Parts: sequence; C-alpha cells; structure tokens
Amino acid sequence: MIYSIAPNNIFKHATSKLYSVNNNLVIRQNIGLEDVKRIEKLQTIRFYFYDLIELSDDKEEIRRLAKFITQLEFQLQVLWNFKQDENMHRWFDIPKCSCPKMDNADNLGTPYKIINPKCIIHGD
Ligand SMILES: [Zn+2]
Repeated sequence: MIYSIAPNNIFKHATSKLYSVNNNLVIRQNIGLEDVKRIEKLQTIRFYFYDLIELSDDKEEIRRLAKFITQLEFQLQVLWNFKQDENMHRWFDIPKCSCPKMDNADNLGTPYKIINPKCIIHGD
C-alpha cells in the first residue's frame, strides 16, 4: 500500500503563514534586494522547522530542530545587518515551548531567561 500525505497537510505553518519582510526595516537597515530574498527564504525554512517540531514527539529530535532554528536566527541577524546576539532571539516563540512568553518577551535583549523546568525544549 502506498501511503502519502500532501505536503500542504504536513507543513501547516509554512503554508499558512506567508512571511513578508518589514519594508521600513529593509530601508532603515539598508538591505539589498538579494538579501531580502535570502531573508524571506530563511523565514520560510523557519516555518518548516516549526512544523517538524509539531509533528514530532521525540524530545531529542525536537531539541535538535530547535538548535537549527537558533542557527537560522543568527543567519537572519547577519542578513539584517544586526550584530549576532542570542539575547535578541525570540527562543520562547517555538512550538511546544512552554516557557512564559510575556515575561521572556520583556527580558528580550538581556541574558535573563525564565525557563519552565517542564518545557520539552528548554527544561530538564
Ligand atoms: Zn521553552
């Protein structure tokens, strides 16, 4: 028996959330057209990783996928002409992360993180 699922049924984030680049930021950061295209591609890849995390029940696999997303964030900072700074990553906005969102959003830009010990990605 041939078992198949249409890609659109698997990759919900990647197909439902089309990423559009912030034009004001493009101008302010003086980003060239080629880099805008690279940013759009990396943002799309990020959503594929989100979907892969949602599809997985394997803690080690989920943590590995989350590390790929961290690397993507660093690459995006380079393309946006920002300095590479892990403290600016929205690490708590990853699917299946159960760390507190608002408190960590308030701490963005500082090394201070509030971790839920039960979070499958960042916990024990
Ligand atoms: Zn977490």
